[in-house]
Amino acid sequence: MNVIVIGGGPAGYAAAIRAAQLGAKVWLVEEKALGGTCLNVGCIPTKTLLEAVRIVSAARSWSDFGIKFEGISIDWNKLHARKKTVIKYLAEGLTGLLGRYGINVVRGRGRLLEPGRVAVTDEKGLSVTLTGDRVILALGSVPAKLTVPGADLPAVAYSQDALEWGEPPSELLVIGGGVIGVEFATLFAEAGSHVTIVEALPDILPTVEIEISRMMACYLKEKGVRVWTSARVIKLEPKGSKVSATVWIGTDETECMFDRVLVAVGRRPAVGDQGLEGTGIVVQNGKVVVNEYLETSVRGVYAAGDVIGGQMLAHVAFYEGVIAAENAVLGNRRTAGREALPYAVFTHPEIAGVGLTEAVARSKGIQVRVGRFFMAANGKAIIEGGGAGLVKVIAAEPYGRVVGVHIIGPHATEIIGEAALAIKLEATVFELGEAIHAHPTVAEAVGEACLATEKRAIHVAS
Ligand code: NAD
Repeated sequence: MNVIVIGGGPAGYAAAIRAAQLGAKVWLVEEKALGGTCLNVGCIPTKTLLEAVRIVSAARSWSDFGIKFEGISIDWNKLHARKKTVIKYLAEGLTGLLGRYGINVVRGRGRLLEPGRVAVTDEKGLSVTLTGDRVILALGSVPAKLTVPGADLPAVAYSQDALEWGEPPSELLVIGGGVIGVEFATLFAEAGSHVTIVEALPDILPTVEIEISRMMACYLKEKGVRVWTSARVIKLEPKGSKVSATVWIGTDETECMFDRVLVAVGRRPAVGDQGLEGTGIVVQNGKVVVNEYLETSVRGVYAAGDVIGGQMLAHVAFYEGVIAAENAVLGNRRTAGREALPYAVFTHPEIAGVGLTEAVARSKGIQVRVGRFFMAANGKAIIEGGGAGLVKVIAAEPYGRVVGVHIIGPHATEIIGEAALAIKLEATVFELGEAIHAHPTVAEAVGEACLATEKRAIHVAS
């Protein structure tokens, strides 16, 4: 069995490795850097920079612990060098891994000609045609563009450019209060910028459990971030070395000056540039359409990751890449379930969740029980983060099956794994609540929130 994977990001390289594990001969086509957006210009560099500002922010409270240290600051050149080292280390590891699996990495832009035939054109314009039994499309996504007047000014950037900024801008406008907008607002606010977020919807992080996104809006405001919701930038104009933004908030129009503008208004599947026209592959609403086995409308051609839309997250891409590879090599046998896919936002404090929000559960007609446990009553959260945060658990009647867990607080992105497992195993709040959590840990709050659905939490009066 020969498998051709187009795209070397998380979906593509996971698919290539899984197909090779199953005995297939694999070609992995990548035109830029292996590891895709996540490794090179997304998750990994962003989290490296966020870790630096987290350390600096934590240092501001060192005196509360009796630690004396003066003059802490970030050398941005050194930080960017560290970021590059982390990327290089992981990229070399990935290249070595692919080599050990005997995967043939083909450099260039891949284009599906017909089922089983892929043309690859390198940067010099030289083309080869690969032939395989199965093809997996893992083409990724690109930033959605801002379309207001002035959107192409030099001071207007997307997240990939902002990762390269030498020094934090003094006045920063972030357009879009989704995951990228809020992570970068955290990064630059903690690095000393005055940040304004303009979000079109009534709340930032609109897909996150609403109590938690509102708590995050408060925490951002405490950091000095201006959060303007139900607002839109309608025009950007150059004013000397600055940019003037005209913003509609409700019914008012206001004009503000900024040094830089970061656009974070979503990403769209990268189908347009890859030439899927004429291949028979159905694209709807800009996404490659797949069935539950991740097979496209053309037999033998599968797709995984951002290119099929849905939750555009690296760990979802890994998961889908593995499923696409197994179905491609072994025949359609594994479906892609969506119930236990966590989300994680690397703000300070962190946010993570898995399963349904309360509003979505209710909109599906599920009778729910809700349990809350505030980090203000969790010893470890108080030690580490002053007690900011909340765990909210949503359970379905009548048996109390866990259908959603949403966390804001220290280590939320790590702790969420436990909740994802609970949902995958169809556990009840009784089981998750009675699982013994080590003390003192932030994870205890998950158990307590589960017990709170039955008014049995210990460290809160119900
Ligand atoms: P997003 O879809 O999460 O958020 C975009 C936000 O911009 C939305 O809230 C939307 O209402 C708002 N918006 C759109 N047009 C607007 C306008 N003209 N004015 C004001 N607001 C506007 O998209 P994103 O934050 O750009 O992230 C892109 C993708 O990358 C997402 O799928 C995200 O999940 C993923 N990502 C994930 C992580 C993570 O998991 N930690 C980190 C970064 C990116």
